[in-house]
Amino acid sequence: MTAQLPYDHETELEHVLERCNAARQAPLPAKDALPEGFSGLLGHFPVYFPEEIAHAAGLLPVNVLGGGNRLEMKHADARMGSFVCSICRSTAELGLNGSLAGLAGFVTHPICDAAKHLAGIWSRNFPEQLSQILYLPQNVNTPGAVRYIAAEYQRLRAELEKATGRRVEDEALRASIRLYNHNRALLRELYAVRRDEPWKLSCIESSLLTRARTRMPCEEHTALLGRALDAVRHRALRAQDKPRVVFVGGFCEQPPVEMLETLDDNCYVVDDDLLIGLRWLSADVPETGDPIWALAESYVERSAASPVQHDARKSKEGYLMAMLREARADAAILTAAKFCEPGLDDQLAWSKHLDEAGIPYLVLEFEEKMTSFEQMAMQVETFAESLLFALA
Ligand code: SF4
Repeated sequence: MTAQLPYDHETELEHVLERCNAARQAPLPAKDALPEGFSGLLGHFPVYFPEEIAHAAGLLPVNVLGGGNRLEMKHADARMGSFVCSICRSTAELGLNGSLAGLAGFVTHPICDAAKHLAGIWSRNFPEQLSQILYLPQNVNTPGAVRYIAAEYQRLRAELEKATGRRVEDEALRASIRLYNHNRALLRELYAVRRDEPWKLSCIESSLLTRARTRMPCEEHTALLGRALDAVRHRALRAQDKPRVVFVGGFCEQPPVEMLETLDDNCYVVDDDLLIGLRWLSADVPETGDPIWALAESYVERSAASPVQHDARKSKEGYLMAMLREARADAAILTAAKFCEPGLDDQLAWSKHLDEAGIPYLVLEFEEKMTSFEQMAMQVETFAESLLFALA
């Protein structure tokens, strides 16, 4: 009989990360290879989308996050101006080159003009797919906001019922809410590890683990997160001499992996807004009562902040300062995707406020297509060294 090898947490984490990375890079599953319980795939654009409604309709929600820096642009450039951000251009390219042909539909949001216009490109070029704009309110402080969102969610529910020929029952929605509540709780734990013991989980690992939900059923993702968290907590790594920074500006288009590696090499990124749409609801959605109302109310009352939503209770400066305080960060790294108007607006407000508050910060710009990171690496290294010097 062979002796059983001791359980190795590092290997376990490696396996989970490999699975997450493979999911990130895999093409969409064909209709006959869909995960059990799903009849199709529903594409949705960042930032926030109520995945529970698609899940309860038997459509696997697929967050379309652009094409990364390996995608060859052959079609989108002829249809979109060169001043449009990379994620919109590469999402259109993925549609036009057939990579998203397996979607039953695509839902975008009026977070900015570029994102809103994706719906028009979709309906003209892919009439066989359901093409929708989900109008989430930019201003959530009006008394009718919850009622309005609930009506939008009901409209989406009805569209998905029409597309799938299947009724979305309240009980199915409540079951999906329960699943996503559990998943979001684990994501919050992941970020708690980043804040409390950042040497145990890098920004890039955390981003990979989070992003995997965009390509697999929530149930499978939750199981992976559980395994990852257990392995991370047992990791025998020691703290290094690195400054603690908060990284903001990655709420929609995702910074290239190499950029995150550069940050990890030099700093502990103790909080960020990467993939914030997947973590949008910051506390459990009520699991009883009207599920659509519960989701709508959570959007208004229990949600994160980002440059694409205006909530008088969460000023741009206020939520960045709260992130810095709660993560006990020494400094901020402010980024924005090239040509991202909402991101650049907030970057300006953030930098002005940090100047006034005397908090050190570094400004970086990124785009999907970036291939050279030497200059950025030098900037981050110099910034991290100056922070360590100041903190010594
Ligand atoms: S990256 Fe900015 S400009 Fe581009 S779609 Fe997202 S919010 Fe709009």
